[in-house]
Amino acid sequence: MSNLEANRWFTEVSDRDGSAFSLRINKKLDEIQSPFQNVEMYETTNFGNLMIIDGCTMVSSRENFFYHEMISHPALFSHPAPKNVVIIGGGDCGTLREVLKHPDVENVTQIDIDEVVTQMSLKYFPELCESNSDPRATVMFDDGIKYMREIAPESVDVVIVDGTDPVGPGEGLFNHAFYTSCLKALRTGGILVQQSESPLTHMPLLLDMRDAMLEVGFVDLHTLPFPQPIYPSGLWSATLARKGEPFNGFREQDADNAKFDTEYYNSGIHKGALATPNFMKRAFIK
Ligand code: SAM
Repeated sequence: MSNLEANRWFTEVSDRDGSAFSLRINKKLDEIQSPFQNVEMYETTNFGNLMIIDGCTMVSSRENFFYHEMISHPALFSHPAPKNVVIIGGGDCGTLREVLKHPDVENVTQIDIDEVVTQMSLKYFPELCESNSDPRATVMFDDGIKYMREIAPESVDVVIVDGTDPVGPGEGLFNHAFYTSCLKALRTGGILVQQSESPLTHMPLLLDMRDAMLEVGFVDLHTLPFPQPIYPSGLWSATLARKGEPFNGFREQDADNAKFDTEYYNSGIHKGALATPNFMKRAFIK
């Protein structure tokens, strides 16, 4: 549920969390009801432009780097040599931009179900779309669940699931059938990474996801918490699952020597995120 109050605050009310979060806005920029979801765009006073999907905050100009960097760089630096990458969802194209910063990645295919999200991003977040014309990038509009069901086995090194919450078109991105498709698509040593909601307020969902990933055959998991100021609770996570072998640290030197800029990610942040907080450790061993 959301509302734009008379005093010009956009408020996302999260009934499931018993919380609400507001941003002061200057004006509404756009709204399109696509065949899949309602996409709104606002200009805020302090967070730049803000995208809302079905009443939920998705991306703002000011803080999207936490999410886009933490859903991409830890997985890419945990893989010894990622060359072929698939992004499911990710229509704002911020994750695509981060993945393409890795010079050894040979191709990235992004499949979002909703072209409206990308059209809005091209218009209101051009900086997130600056790598869309990279020759290594393919941007497609289709159902990511179907795409992963049909993709050639053992053809991908990293699958990034940058999807919405498990409602609407994103619901099928959180179940055994989808994880089985991802496992089949990955080469041995390959990594699935998925946005895994708030460890503070969505722990049952996070535990179900982790269980399902192990039950379909992934052998090792890391859930990395990170700040996400505009999402419910302000704390979010990315869960990495590895096929065939356990995680073996990450390419720390490569992360230190990376010839690209990030706003949040560095090797120290990566190490810190691997040091699972005690409340999460306790939940994971139950
Ligand atoms: N950062 C956001 C979050 O965690 O809530 C998610 C980013 S947003 C780009 C998620 C995208 O997932 C949306 O553009 C939506 O269209 C897409 N999506 C949802 N279900 C999908 C599906 N089944 N296949 C492909 N894309 C899907």
